[in-house]
Amino acid sequence: MALKTARTPVTLETGAPLIDIDRVTKSFPSADGTTLDVLSEISLTLRKGEIVALLGKSGSGKSTLLRTMAGLIAPTTGEVRYRGERLDGANPGVGMVFQSFALMPWLTVQANVELGLEARGVPAAERRERALAAIDVIGLDGFESAYPRELSGGMRQRVGFARALVLRPDALLMDEPFSALDVLTAENLRGEIMSLWAQPDFPTSAICIVTHNIEEAVLLADRVIVLGSNPGHIKGEVPILLPRPRDRRSPSFEATID
Ligand code: ADP
Ligand code: MG
Repeated sequence: MALKTARTPVTLETGAPLIDIDRVTKSFPSADGTTLDVLSEISLTLRKGEIVALLGKSGSGKSTLLRTMAGLIAPTTGEVRYRGERLDGANPGVGMVFQSFALMPWLTVQANVELGLEARGVPAAERRERALAAIDVIGLDGFESAYPRELSGGMRQRVGFARALVLRPDALLMDEPFSALDVLTAENLRGEIMSLWAQPDFPTSAICIVTHNIEEAVLLADRVIVLGSNPGHIKGEVPILLPRPRDRRSPSFEATID
């Protein structure tokens, strides 16, 4: 009980809401003319300063939920808010990382990283400067002109991270970002992302990671939200009470240093 009392400041209610999922339901039309209910009445809030893991079996709707948070999928009913504003289209505050990297094979590392900035109308000189900085931070210095096919899986996912981080996203949404990598590569990259997260000048103030790996969820997250299937729903939530470095700007950061 003492441990729980000491950790109370870092639980759910700490920090301002960044992304609200409010009673979101999602159905897709299926091949036989009926509809497939994928998400059922899901409500959750991603708050400043926290890392949330969405844990669930394959098919429980984790990717659909994350894409809904990113505004890439519109909910069938319910709404998604970013900083209190109802989303209508892509969420301007998020950067996404995908399991399969989702790089453009015909573009160089640098061009892949610049792509999202281009879409946001950032001028060429600034794009280049920010892309090179992101490439450097993620450990790909010297590979700016390489093509994805010339890189290992771990390096490709580094490009995936650079592409998200170059946006300086308020929220970083990661869909099984380490599950296509071998164990050691995954462990290294995970450690590096956590070191970035612990730096006071890291611009991202919340992370949501989708995983089916319980160990990874417990290792990274402040709380784990468990999804059940058919249709996807929130089964429960587990706060993780392990001390770890966190975003210094979060009110909970100070609260966790004794
Ligand atoms: P998870 O990421 O947990 O494995 P997904 O969100 O990818 O789950 O998928 C959940 C369910 O929704 C699956 O049954 C999948 O086939 C279905 N689904 C996902 N996207 C679509 C889509 N665009 N159209 C039809 N069905 C989809
Ligand atoms: Mg998925």
